[in-house]
Amino acid sequence: MIRVGVNGYGTIGKRVADAVEAQPDMEIIGVAKTQPNFEAHTAVKRGYPMYAAIPERAPLFAEAGIELAGEVDELVAEADVIVDCTPSGIGAKNRELYETHHTPAIFQGGEDADVADVSFNARSNYAAARDADYVRVVSCNTTGLSRIIAPLEEEYGVEKVRATLVRRGGDPGQNSRGPINDILPNPIKVPSHHGPDVKTIFPDLEIDTLGLKVPATLMHVHALNVTLEDDVTGAHVRQLLEGEDRIYVIPEGLGIDGAGKLKDLALDAERPRGDLWENCVWGESIGVNGRDLYLFQAIHQESDVIPENVDAIRAMFELEDQKTSMELTDRKLGVGI
Ligand code: NAD
Repeated sequence: MIRVGVNGYGTIGKRVADAVEAQPDMEIIGVAKTQPNFEAHTAVKRGYPMYAAIPERAPLFAEAGIELAGEVDELVAEADVIVDCTPSGIGAKNRELYETHHTPAIFQGGEDADVADVSFNARSNYAAARDADYVRVVSCNTTGLSRIIAPLEEEYGVEKVRATLVRRGGDPGQNSRGPINDILPNPIKVPSHHGPDVKTIFPDLEIDTLGLKVPATLMHVHALNVTLEDDVTGAHVRQLLEGEDRIYVIPEGLGIDGAGKLKDLALDAERPRGDLWENCVWGESIGVNGRDLYLFQAIHQESDVIPENVDAIRAMFELEDQKTSMELTDRKLGVGI
């Protein structure tokens, strides 16, 4: 049983904790938080021992009626692995703490690639994390792109990827983010930094990306053009993508015309927090012109990286091979619509 600590119990951290707890070969031994907000109370209700991420703030937890199991230093010392889910940039600062205790760690996509020995996507480079002490699970967008590029590369060969990423302005709880009434080329500089991030998973890939930000919180939407090395048919690509467990090809006729209805689908299915762990590819959008493939996919930024964190733990500790780990993670989480 791998003993896992989560440092940073926010949007990603709380989901990682629940996903780890659902697995038979790993358990949460504690979570570290900076403040006793509503998420801290959720953690307590779920039975996760609470550690103070900032020792001077420990009294705030007592005042809020939350009993602390200790300070983050103790959690790091006790854990077999820490999943660092702190905001972008803090993970890199925390690496020294993990090194001091010789505790391996998984970082998230908000960190630069050099925070870890390897950038990770379970479908694309599972084996690269074998035996690594520091692994970075790539961002929500890079995870979404990698999951679709991997099967295309294996089946047809990929000459070039061009992707336009229409990004949500912020997560539902991030009420200080925006825009609230604008459409921003973001970053304005093209191509955007997302392409180079995908190349941390596929070093030899030709890829250009463009980014925008829009007044939405639900999901990102990608408009994708992939030039393949072989002529293909849309039907063949569709069959290929339908065979991927972490890709949901949205059938025609369901009336799902946007991210809002996808989120409703997840809530109707009583998925935890309305999460959509899969890339959601509109079947109707899969179009082919010679070697050029086009499609739209929606990515639930809050949850698509969650199964990847679980697989990263198994890969680092060499618990299972890629296929077994991904299948187990998916079964225990309920991935697959
Ligand atoms: P978040 O702000 O929702 O959660 C971060 C948590 O860490 C908060 O609870 C915060 O209080 C806590 N924290 C702050 N400083 C800390 C410290 N020094 N020690 C311990 N905890 C601290 O952020 P998030 O959205 O969960 O993002 C976490 C990481 O995941 C980032 O690298 C981000 O880029 C990445 N990521 C986010 C998303 C997303 O859409 N939210 C998607 C994929 C990856």
